Amino acid sequence: MKAALLYNYNEPLRIEQVPDPVITDPSDVIVKVGGAGVCHTDLHLIEGVWAETLGTPLPYIIGHENAGWVHEIGSGVTNFQVGDPVILHPVMSCGKCLSCRSGEDMHCPNLKFCGLTVNGGYAQYLKTSERALIPLPKGVNPADVAPFADAGITAYRAVRKAAPLAKPGTHVVMIGMGGLGHIGVQVMRELGNADIIALDKNKERLNMSLELGAVHAVEANHKAVSQVRSLTAGQGADIIIDFVGNDQTHEESLQMLRKGGTYIVVGYGGTVQLPSLKLINNEFSILGSLVGNYNELYQLMELHARGKVKLHSTKYSLDEANDVLNLLHHGKINGRAVLVP
Ligand SMILES: [Zn+2]
Ligand SMILES: [Zn+2]
Repeated sequence: MKAALLYNYNEPLRIEQVPDPVITDPSDVIVKVGGAGVCHTDLHLIEGVWAETLGTPLPYIIGHENAGWVHEIGSGVTNFQVGDPVILHPVMSCGKCLSCRSGEDMHCPNLKFCGLTVNGGYAQYLKTSERALIPLPKGVNPADVAPFADAGITAYRAVRKAAPLAKPGTHVVMIGMGGLGHIGVQVMRELGNADIIALDKNKERLNMSLELGAVHAVEANHKAVSQVRSLTAGQGADIIIDFVGNDQTHEESLQMLRKGGTYIVVGYGGTVQLPSLKLINNEFSILGSLVGNYNELYQLMELHARGKVKLHSTKYSLDEANDVLNLLHHGKINGRAVLVP
């Protein structure tokens, strides 16, 4: 099959022919990839940011936002048949540990992460396990929904944490209106009652966020903190969801957060720095949010099926993988890019 492989950090992926994945465990499923979303994490993987944490031997196939059709099933697979359209939760979790039993797939100590620790979806075929599959309604094209598998659930989980706090009269600032943010705004519109303030550098993305449910759009520049303060009667935001997560957004978030406010960090790369006096004096809650669990992906697909969360995406061929990564690196992708092998 054709696949895009990471051979060396900080070098373009190599697109070449490799052997097809094969079933080795009764619960294995081979999926014919219909679409693979292109994510900032893919850029970080290529930069080697994850190298030490993951220790995945090179080369391997990246791509963790996958959807497609069941192509082959192991002898123990009972809920899916060849040809079924599916979206893939990005990890294969064991199903037996306490985390799995409480539904938190991302906390499974035995997990394998497609596209991070094992081969992913920048390829024609991909191996996963039955536990990771969510059936798609008939007629849904996998390439149209693939980014929900990571960008989607990551935004969904962060908003689900914030939703009980997003009461009428509260304000939630959402930073970064890209692949995750544009989904996050729609989910907040559906699950919460807060007034959404969208923050981004890009005017086109800010306009899109207003169409999707944001009440205010604030350009991310040196005036952003004071603008958020004036939109919230000088009090600051009750909730901030940071989809960017660099030193600047961390610092500014803590300046625009209301007393008793909650700061949810989704994007990563920076360092959150806060004197403990300021933390206790303001009673801030600072939460991390990592991807999402199986149930959250299921719930998001239900929202999507009801027409309540739409995905803005552009399709490219697998051969264009390096060009697309380059566009993403330069902030030139609106919504999400999807590779169709
Ligand atoms: Zn991702
Ligand atoms: Zn487990």
